[in-house]
Amino acid sequence: MSKLLIKNGTVVTLGKENRIIPEGYVLIKDNIIEEFGSGVPAVDPDTEEIDASGKLIMPGFINQHMHFYSTFARGLCPKLPPPSNFREVLEKLWWPLDYALNKEDVYYSTLVAAMNGIKKGVTTFFDHHESQQYQSGSLDIIEEALRETGVRGNLSLGVSDRYGNGKAGIEENIRFAEKIRRLNSGGDELITSNFGFHAMFTVEDESLHKAAEAAKDLNCGFHVHVAEGELDKQFNLKKYGKTPLQRLFDSGCLGGKTTAVHCIFITDKDIGLIKDSGTPVVHIPQSNMNNGVGVAPVLEILKNNITVGLGTDGISPGVLDDVRAANFVHKLNKKDPRVFFAESCQLILENNSKISSRFLSRNIGELKKGTYADIITVDYDPPTPLNEDTFYGHFLFGICEAKVDTTVANGKVLMKNGKLTQLDEHEVNAESRKQAADFWKRF
Ligand SMILES: [Zn+2]
Repeated sequence: MSKLLIKNGTVVTLGKENRIIPEGYVLIKDNIIEEFGSGVPAVDPDTEEIDASGKLIMPGFINQHMHFYSTFARGLCPKLPPPSNFREVLEKLWWPLDYALNKEDVYYSTLVAAMNGIKKGVTTFFDHHESQQYQSGSLDIIEEALRETGVRGNLSLGVSDRYGNGKAGIEENIRFAEKIRRLNSGGDELITSNFGFHAMFTVEDESLHKAAEAAKDLNCGFHVHVAEGELDKQFNLKKYGKTPLQRLFDSGCLGGKTTAVHCIFITDKDIGLIKDSGTPVVHIPQSNMNNGVGVAPVLEILKNNITVGLGTDGISPGVLDDVRAANFVHKLNKKDPRVFFAESCQLILENNSKISSRFLSRNIGELKKGTYADIITVDYDPPTPLNEDTFYGHFLFGICEAKVDTTVANGKVLMKNGKLTQLDEHEVNAESRKQAADFWKRF
């Protein structure tokens, strides 16, 4: 049994109460939070200790929607002229990019993204993978890279018929889900799985129904882009007479383990379907701005008591820039400085925890006895009083910019005093650069 004591820091529990405990500690046994509180407890001599003086001790962050493979897009220029709308962004950049990915590309893009996530305090990624030419076995490679980094991951492959490869995508999701179910029955929940769809405008009815049936048998939900662009809505209305959400609802694909990502071009009726099915929504403000697609009606969605989480869509592994973007974009959109202050914090600090814990036997994203030990320390010395009432202001305008010092996932120290413990950062980046240069020639 391994024991780890993180002491002398300000403990931030998050969760419903979000208690702030000055001069506190967290004691971890194996991969579980054993206890926490104020002061320093007596511990066995073989306990590893981390001094968090001048730092916050809090749950690690959860990125609710990521594409690890986007790592290799950094610096890559799509063919000229540049994309002028969302369809062209897909057709000129993302689709050719994922089509060209091979095994080594998938491995290194995952390794780099997860490594940079650890540096930003992310301990869990919900990754949505696509590699149309190389689907079979691709989720194993992502799993392998994640296990090397030590971060928690929920993996799915976005089924799509855009190149006629929907069947292979369905098979990969099924094969991987069955494998993970076998592995996790032994107690290891570092990696979990879900079923993926790209988006309803590239998924034919045959694939939709086959996947729906398979996911039901596997007790999976769907990780799916919904109405990110107007084209998704228009295509589905024209071809099927239904919105993307109505197609998902009618085929039984909505529910508590499904995450509807983006949800920009949705109707009031769609919001009703999301609510009735208990489906969480994932908001991605930076990506939506970057693609010039629009602002998701998150305030209206939240008014219906729907759980909305936050992801990055591959813009970055870290989630905190998207928290700030969410705060700003909705104020601007509504021309109202009163809106979305608390909400922007709650998406990441409360709702991602609620959504992701549905895939695990113990909660994450909350510092509580018995939850998984996914903990970070943040170098933050508050210049104004920090307590339960002032926390969101500190989070949004201070902690989001502060440096993560230590990252612990599943009880394992992945970064200590700003230094990665499992990986040689420069070596990983050097190998990735070589691989990416080769990949760019194939793009
Ligand atoms: Zn995405």
